[in-house]
Amino acid sequence: MFKVMSSFRNYFTNLSNAFWEKSHSFFKASPITQVAKNTLKNSASSPHPTSNEPKKVVIIGSGPAGYTAAIYAARANLHPIIYEGSLSGNSSIPGGQLMTTTKVENYPGFPHGIDGPTLVDNMREQAIHSGATILGENVVKADLTQYPFSIQGEETHHKALAVIIATGATAKRLNIPGTRDGELWQRGVSACAVCDGPLPLFRNRHLFVIGGGDSAMEEALHLSKFASKVSIVHRRDQLKASKAMQKAVFANPKIEVIWNSVIKQVNGKDAVESVVIKNVKTKQITTHDASGVFFGVGHTPNTAFLDGQLGLDANGYINVKPGSSETNIPYVYAAGDVKDAIYRQAITAASSGCIAALDAERALNALNLSQK
Ligand SMILES: Cc1cc2nc3c(=O)[nH]c(=O)nc-3n(C[C@H](O)[C@H](O)[C@H](O)COP(=O)(O)OP(=O)(O)OC[C@H]3O[C@@H](n4cnc5c(N)ncnc54)[C@H](O)[C@@H]3O)c2cc1C
Repeated sequence: MFKVMSSFRNYFTNLSNAFWEKSHSFFKASPITQVAKNTLKNSASSPHPTSNEPKKVVIIGSGPAGYTAAIYAARANLHPIIYEGSLSGNSSIPGGQLMTTTKVENYPGFPHGIDGPTLVDNMREQAIHSGATILGENVVKADLTQYPFSIQGEETHHKALAVIIATGATAKRLNIPGTRDGELWQRGVSACAVCDGPLPLFRNRHLFVIGGGDSAMEEALHLSKFASKVSIVHRRDQLKASKAMQKAVFANPKIEVIWNSVIKQVNGKDAVESVVIKNVKTKQITTHDASGVFFGVGHTPNTAFLDGQLGLDANGYINVKPGSSETNIPYVYAAGDVKDAIYRQAITAASSGCIAALDAERALNALNLSQK
C-alpha cells in the first residue's frame, strides 16, 4: 500500500514540478513584481500609514492554516488581518472544520486529546495575543489582477501587499436521512477516516463507506486497520478509483464492495446502529447492522470567491510551487486544505500556514518592507 501511495505521490509531484517550472518563469517576470516595488517605495515614505494604505498581509480563512499564518505574520511585525469567515457563507464556519468535531486526538501537545472548538479557540486567542486583527466576515471578492491586491469583505474592504489564502475545503456529504447535522453526523457518521477511524466507537465494528473514487478507497483502506469489516457502497457496477487503489481494495480481506447500491437511510438513537441499502438495479431493500458510515465522495476546496484568478488543479485545489506556498501570482500564497488534496489534517494545515507567513515575510523583506 505504502509503495502504491508513494508512486502516486511521486507521479503528482513530478507533474506539479513541471507545471510550476513552466509557469513560474513567466511569473518571475510578472509586471506585478515591478508594481510591488514601486508601491512599496511610495508607501515607505509615510511614517504614519493611514487606514487607506495597503495592509502588509491579509489572511483569508481562519482554520489551523489561517490562525498559524496570523501568529507568524504578527510576530514578524507584519500586522496581519484575518478575514475569519462568517456563518452566512455555504462553506463557512469561522474557525474551520475542527469546529464540527468533538475530540482531536492526533494534534501534538495534547496527550489526552482536545475538543476541536477548544483547539481552534486557543489558536485564535494566540493569533490575537500575537497582534493579529480579526474580522468576522467572509471575503466575497478578491481582485488579484492589480497591485496592491483588493480584498472585499461582507462589510470592509482592504488593499493588501501580500495575501494568504487559507479557506480550507468542505467535505462533500450526501443528503441521506439520518446523516445530517443534528442527526447522527459526528455520532458515527463522518467524512474523515484518518481523523475518526481510530476512535473506540469504530474499533472492531462493521463500517460502511459511500463512494467509488479514490477518496472512498482511501477511507476504506484506512478504516480496515480498525474495523472488523468495511463495506463500500457504490451505486455503479464498477469503481471510478485508479487501478492501483482498486487493486489494494480488492486484495484486502476485510473490505467488500456492495455494487449498484445506495444507502437510503442511517438509523440509530445516539450512535449509528444500522443502514438501509437499496440495490438500484433490483430495487431490493436490505437492512444491515452498522456502527459507522463514512462519506468518501471528495472535498470541495473553497475557492469560488477567487473567480478563476489563481491556477487550480483538476479538482479545484490551488496549485502551489512544490515545497512552498507560492501560487502562480507573486505575493499570493495558499495554505492548508485549500491547496492540499492529499493530507488534509490540522497539523499539516497549521504547518503550511507557517510556511505561507514565512514566504510572505521573505518576499516583503526582499522589497525592504516588512520592518516598516
Ligand atoms: C468532522 C471533521 C473532523 C476532523 N478531525 C480531525 C482530527 O481529528 N485531526 C486532524 O488533524 N484533522 C481533522 N480534520 C481535518 C481538519 O479539520 C482540516 O484538515 C483542517 O481544519 C484544515 O484546516 P484549514 O485551516 O486548511 O481549513 P479549515 O479548517 O477548513 O478552515 C477554513 C476557514 O476558511 C473560512 N472561509 C472559507 N471561505 C471563506 C471566505 N470566502 N472568506 C473568509 N473565510 C472563509 C472558513 O469559514 C473556515 O474558517 C477533521 C475534519 C472534519 C470535517
